[in-house]
Amino acid sequence: MTEKRKPSGPDLTKGVSLTDFKEAKLLGHVGEEDVLLVQAGSEIFAIEPACSHYHGPLAEGLVVGDTIRCPWHHACFSLRSGEATRPPALNALAVWEVMRDRDKIIVQRRREAPKPSAARRSAPTPDKFVIVGGGAAGFAAAETLRREGFAGAITMLSDDGAMPVDRPNLSKDYLAGSAPEDWLPLRGADYYQDAGIDLRLNTNVSAIDAKTRSVTLGNGDRLSFDRLLLATGAEPVRLQVPGADQPHVHTLRSVADSRAVIKTAGSARHALVIGASFIGLEVAASLRARKIEVHVVAPEERPMQKVLGAEMGDFVRSLHEENGVVFHLKDTVEKLAGMRATLKSGAVIEADLVVVGIGVKPRLALAEQAGLFADRGVSVSEYLETSVAGIFAAGDIARWPDPHSRQTIRVEHWVVAERQGQTAARNMLGKRERFDAVPFFWSQHYDVPINYVGHAESFDDIAIDGSISGRDCLLKYRRAGRVLAVASIYRDLDNLKAELEMERSHA
Ligand SMILES: Cc1cc2nc3c(=O)[nH]c(=O)nc-3n(C[C@H](O)[C@H](O)[C@H](O)COP(=O)(O)OP(=O)(O)OC[C@H]3O[C@@H](n4cnc5c(N)ncnc54)[C@H](O)[C@@H]3O)c2cc1C
Repeated sequence: MTEKRKPSGPDLTKGVSLTDFKEAKLLGHVGEEDVLLVQAGSEIFAIEPACSHYHGPLAEGLVVGDTIRCPWHHACFSLRSGEATRPPALNALAVWEVMRDRDKIIVQRRREAPKPSAARRSAPTPDKFVIVGGGAAGFAAAETLRREGFAGAITMLSDDGAMPVDRPNLSKDYLAGSAPEDWLPLRGADYYQDAGIDLRLNTNVSAIDAKTRSVTLGNGDRLSFDRLLLATGAEPVRLQVPGADQPHVHTLRSVADSRAVIKTAGSARHALVIGASFIGLEVAASLRARKIEVHVVAPEERPMQKVLGAEMGDFVRSLHEENGVVFHLKDTVEKLAGMRATLKSGAVIEADLVVVGIGVKPRLALAEQAGLFADRGVSVSEYLETSVAGIFAAGDIARWPDPHSRQTIRVEHWVVAERQGQTAARNMLGKRERFDAVPFFWSQHYDVPINYVGHAESFDDIAIDGSISGRDCLLKYRRAGRVLAVASIYRDLDNLKAELEMERSHA
């Protein structure tokens, strides 16, 4: 028999006093359901306490105006409506009516959920919007177009065979075997049908004609558009050494890739991960969870040193070593002959599974063929519009003017891709919304999450607060005295505050 879970905190139907609040929040229950009371200014709101993305504890989040931000991956929700206003959350939270009786706050009734976006569409219009890409940015754009009430045609073209998925999971829980495959799709097939989004999988777009406003599909069909969003993402850099084309050598981008790694892992005992990047090391951690011996070969002195600095690099290395990973740093793989990998140093590693994580390159072929202005990515304005009016770009391919770093930047972050997809969608509708979000990413290694806000292409100094090895730290990356980025381990609230501070300094 499963044990019944005890609801949290006081019974809110009986009422609580404001003096019981800690840091403007109080976790209680209404019947069987947990409810979080949040004080924002003079108002009190009652919401579901777990983020709809990965169930992060909103009681530890940051209240900004009448919104609350999740401490784990920086999703944001309206306290009034429960609506997810910032990715990575997609679904709204439940909200409850709050009554006040003198100094007592009483919650009894859950508010009716707002109608699903598909049902809010206005009368159909003849506009045809085409989205190339079925990843983070493409999906967020399609969803936002419907949320904003766009009633024209949306066609989403993806050369992948899988519906848009939670890509970050492919190197983490799914690969480790702790998340089932049905957690991966961002939405089920019925969502696209209900929302009238014509999602075409296994559909390659081979050309864009900016003059006639049409795209050509791999089968030769042409599709005209009024507005186009390019969100073709990135692809893994291939390893150019003899033997890299063997079946036990993998890269990781798609669900199919992750499935293939899992299949090989099923009978593998010794894995070789080439590259000590975020993805490479997440793969190493997931394969250790499968009890496979893991060796990591990489040319740098320390993992992630370029992005996170020497101290964090040393920590990441020792964290993986504590979990049994063997590093071969300042070394590279020269050839893969069957199960034997020979390194430049002369060392030989036996591996029946090889995962190559040596970086990605943006998929720019379409943009270049269409004659869009490119500079190490598709160049876009602050409105995410390319050099051709009506054609937008978002996600891993887009290089945009970032007001925070005061540079044009291109990043490969899940949340940035989703937020850009949303802004691009609103601008496809003519809203002229600037993309000025502070970049954010997270990475997970065993039980240690690393959160990073801002963007520091290079830095000359790191101010470390707390203890990195004690897994309780906040690092500020500075150039010429200016904080460009902040990374943290288990300082989630501080990380959210750093994000807010960066936003406000450019408001
Ligand atoms: C394994 C893995 C783990 C990751 N973990 C994290 C993480 O923890 N945190 C984080 O911040 N980021 C993470 N990332 C990065 C994040 O997933 C990307 O930044 C994000 O997916 C980019 O979104 P996008 O829409 O630009 O591209 P994608 O999500 O790659 O989508 C691109 C889409 O375009 C399609 N496409 C491309 N060319 C064509 C064409 N010619 N015709 C038709 N379709 C085309 C592709 O099939 C795909 O559907 C991870 C990435 C991977 C691969």
